[in-house]
Amino acid sequence: MDNLDKLFCVQCGSQSLILKKPDGDTHVRTICQNCNHIMYQNPKIVTGSVCSYKDKILLCKRAIDPQKGLWTLPAGYLEINESIEEGAVREAYEEAFAKIQIVRLLATYSLKHISQIQVIYEAKLLNEDIKAGIESLEVGLFGWDEIPWDQLAFESVRWALRNFKERQNSNTFDVFNNPN
Ligand SMILES: [Zn+2]
Repeated sequence: MDNLDKLFCVQCGSQSLILKKPDGDTHVRTICQNCNHIMYQNPKIVTGSVCSYKDKILLCKRAIDPQKGLWTLPAGYLEINESIEEGAVREAYEEAFAKIQIVRLLATYSLKHISQIQVIYEAKLLNEDIKAGIESLEVGLFGWDEIPWDQLAFESVRWALRNFKERQNSNTFDVFNNPN
């Protein structure tokens, strides 16, 4: 938030914003000189899941940018007043009309460069009734050898699929932090 000219205070509407480190704080913040409101910026949380049905994994071909036309896991931004598990279930339904049951936490990824935290679950797809939601061009169930590895939308999709495969052979839980 370098250019404050066009910004208004979300609290009082004033344009008298400055960048300043509040007393006792560790970071520079955007502060309103009129009402003293501090506009904190925090990372966004993405919630999603690797959903399996028998030996197959649910993937969705993105209908929207970024990475339109490439394959991803059902995942998206957590909404206000939503639990992270509820968010993962909602995203699977929105993107693939998939009814899923969360099994366990698969991994968390900290994408520090874009201030994004991803929380990815392992989930069971409850039946094969899937179809493309509004954010998907196409949805499908893929065996491990059928996954379109060269057409995945994001590096984190690859991490999650790999972590999912690793978990098939172990009961340990790990927190993965930018594993590449
Ligand atoms: Zn203000």
